[in-house]
Amino acid sequence: MPTKAELQARVDLLEKVNADLERMLARAQRELEGRLLPEEEQPNDITNTVRKWMHEYQLPWEVFWCADHHQWVDELCSSFPYDIYAECPGCRGEDKT
Ligand SMILES: [Zn+2]
Repeated sequence: MPTKAELQARVDLLEKVNADLERMLARAQRELEGRLLPEEEQPNDITNTVRKWMHEYQLPWEVFWCADHHQWVDELCSSFPYDIYAECPGCRGEDKT
């Protein structure tokens, strides 16, 4: 049996994934309507690692872009892509700035 803390951690993760999916859906709707926000255009400094993941998982670049820290993620969670959850250095508190 999972502990209450484990279940809460799971709920927190799912809520984050759900929020990400809602953001992606809203963005897809804006793209269809031809009114993307300026920050939703693909950043042109896409990393080779992200290119590889996009190809490997057949996922759009948005999955690998951290909107909170405005940089590419460089780490995927162990159950990716079952959980679409990835971290950039900023998410891990490793930003030097
Ligand atoms: Zn981040």
